[in-house]
Amino acid sequence: MRRQILKEMGREFRFQGKLEGRCISSENFGKYVFSRTVMHKMLPREIYQNVSNAMDGREKIKAEYADTVAMAIKEWAISHGATHYSHWFQPLTGASAEKHDAFIDWHSQDSVIEQFNGKQLIQGEPDASSFPSGGLRSTYEARGYTGWDPASPIFLWRAGDGITLCIPSVFFSWTGNVLDSKIPLLRSEHRIDEAASRLLRLTGLAADYVYSTLGLEQEYFVIDRALRNLRPDLILLGKTVFGAPSPKGQELQDHYFGAVKDRILAFMCAFENEAIELGIPVKTRHNEVAPAQHEVAPVFEKSAAAIDHNILLMELMRQIAQEQGLACLLHEKPFAAINGSGKHCNWSLSTNTGVNLLDPSDTPHNNLHFLILLTAIIHGVYQHSALLRASIGSASNDYRLGGHEAPPAIMSIYLGQGLEALLEEIESKGSSSFVQAKSRYDLGVVVLPDLSKDNTDRNRTSPFAFTGNKFEFRAVGSSANPAFSVTVLNLIVAESLNLILDEIEAKLEQGVTPEVLTKAALPVLQHYLRVSKGIRFTGDNYSEAWAKEAEKRGLPIIKRSSEAFLALSDPKTIRVFDRILTAEELASRQDILFEHYVHHMNIEVNLMLDMFKTQILPAAFNYQKEMAMSYLQIKEALAPHQFHSTKQAAYLKHFNDALEEAMKRCEELEKGKVKAFALPLKEKSLAFGEQVASKMEHFRESVDHLETLLDDQLWPLPKYRELLFMV
Ligand code: ADP
Ligand code: MG
Repeated sequence: MRRQILKEMGREFRFQGKLEGRCISSENFGKYVFSRTVMHKMLPREIYQNVSNAMDGREKIKAEYADTVAMAIKEWAISHGATHYSHWFQPLTGASAEKHDAFIDWHSQDSVIEQFNGKQLIQGEPDASSFPSGGLRSTYEARGYTGWDPASPIFLWRAGDGITLCIPSVFFSWTGNVLDSKIPLLRSEHRIDEAASRLLRLTGLAADYVYSTLGLEQEYFVIDRALRNLRPDLILLGKTVFGAPSPKGQELQDHYFGAVKDRILAFMCAFENEAIELGIPVKTRHNEVAPAQHEVAPVFEKSAAAIDHNILLMELMRQIAQEQGLACLLHEKPFAAINGSGKHCNWSLSTNTGVNLLDPSDTPHNNLHFLILLTAIIHGVYQHSALLRASIGSASNDYRLGGHEAPPAIMSIYLGQGLEALLEEIESKGSSSFVQAKSRYDLGVVVLPDLSKDNTDRNRTSPFAFTGNKFEFRAVGSSANPAFSVTVLNLIVAESLNLILDEIEAKLEQGVTPEVLTKAALPVLQHYLRVSKGIRFTGDNYSEAWAKEAEKRGLPIIKRSSEAFLALSDPKTIRVFDRILTAEELASRQDILFEHYVHHMNIEVNLMLDMFKTQILPAAFNYQKEMAMSYLQIKEALAPHQFHSTKQAAYLKHFNDALEEAMKRCEELEKGKVKAFALPLKEKSLAFGEQVASKMEHFRESVDHLETLLDDQLWPLPKYRELLFMV
């Protein structure tokens, strides 16, 4: 089967040469989005204004307008061929969810009519008893509600032969408990707006509000679908549980930024085009370091929009790959021994007027707000590094963190030499050479150079790096919904910012000059920088030495996510989540994370056992039998004095030993799994992360060794060299 497919490959794909109408064009941008432009045409002025404000999160949709808005949406959707509508939301499974309802309703006894009213627009009741709630909701009181979130644009989803109107929504239980990843994110946006606006009022930068911005660099693998279909592990998990390294891997570094193959480029064009139609501003595409690995990055947006768009983009990529006989793998570590995939979260704060608060060159006259914000970020990450580690945690990301060119499981911040020098000055002297004196008597204002230009010394090994005008949180996994990570980031920065502002404000009268303010602020910053110094690291995060150094500094080193999830019940976490999620809601999330972790690992173990017993073992027995027969036959055919085949016997023995070892390790894994399963949830999750994971690794080693010994004709699974290079 595998050989047959290999023989056929390369024949079916013919590059079209021209991609009629399938290339990115600004004309198509947002074609399937119920945008402000569409609304402006379809809605009366005061209603348009209301919805537009609601999209900015500044106002609620007025109840009396809902029917009119719904009518316009229905008309627009039907004119594009939509037949169904769906509240589209992000439950705690990490994926998105939708339940479709047709627009039709009874018109008379024997006819139907398209219907859609304000009530249906604003609230849905998916009765979602099977979504994870971590015990917040028992099945008999299962009712969960979705509520339209106007901050995210309504769009049309085209899949199969159907077109569905999707209404981005939040999801909560009838008791009011939060059951999704969107509500906490939106609340955290409010929190960071409050804190940052307070900062700007103090430093005198005019703005109505502040929001976080997010640019998500999405890494992924693309492989041939026919080969993928021969691997149960790729079908069920999107990763390989076995696979010996290819003789050629990524060591030649010939893939990174290399020419994109035609077949891949056709795929990229197709999904980018559909993304553009959905209003996703995709911009950058290139080959990544590992063979068959690539990246796509949209232009940054408000965080909630960027996250919605990322979830949609991942779905588009999966579906379009399928249409094209490809498989898009978004798993963090589809292949061992080469790079894994991340979703780099580029995060910053922007005012409504478009000033980037992490870009000193945006405010050339005074950068005090930048220094205060930077200190707050450093302090927040220092205080909550375990929580940040938890926020990126998953069974799949555990395989990536600390691996090949991936950020380690230890959180630290990289700032670059220029900023480091500046902060060290403040730390030691309580002042800075960037403070420009206006007169002989005062400290003056802070004016920093344009940091985005001084970007040459980028540290790509850091999990959390300043890159000139934003932070890049690189530890987030490729398949993750980044909402929780961004929520945590917003909250911990807001908390530290408020602490720092409390102290500065306590020293000041109302309406002080910038000079007085700077003088009051610097000693406070000095204190916070000293306290959180341990989290700053400029060296190589991949090195052994860093792990030792981090330990000396007392930084949390949390290798397995199951352990990281414990941070969700830490009193510090409960405090920083005050009025965002209750302790009960956090506990439920922790349970869901534990459960998810166990399920994921358990599926993986089951796959390993199943593939080994039903695919690999039979092949190995066959090969063993062939070798033994060949040996015996040769022995029989030759005269005793002619027969000296000690090497062949030794090889047979070696193979036999390797097989025995693999079978032994298989048994150990099976036993380990059963033992772990008997434990209560938390302990079970920890056991899967530790003991079971190490048994899996041990077992895999042994099976991968077998792959290198077995007859290639008999090996039942597509090999790494085929999966990675034959696309
Ligand atoms: P790289 O990090 O590979 O050098 P870029 O600097 O161009 O690439 O940006 C990577 C991502 O960061 C892009 O999605 C970009 O839109 C985003 N980005 C740029 N500026 C900001 C910002 N102020 N806030 C959030 N994301 C940003
Ligand atoms: Mg980057």
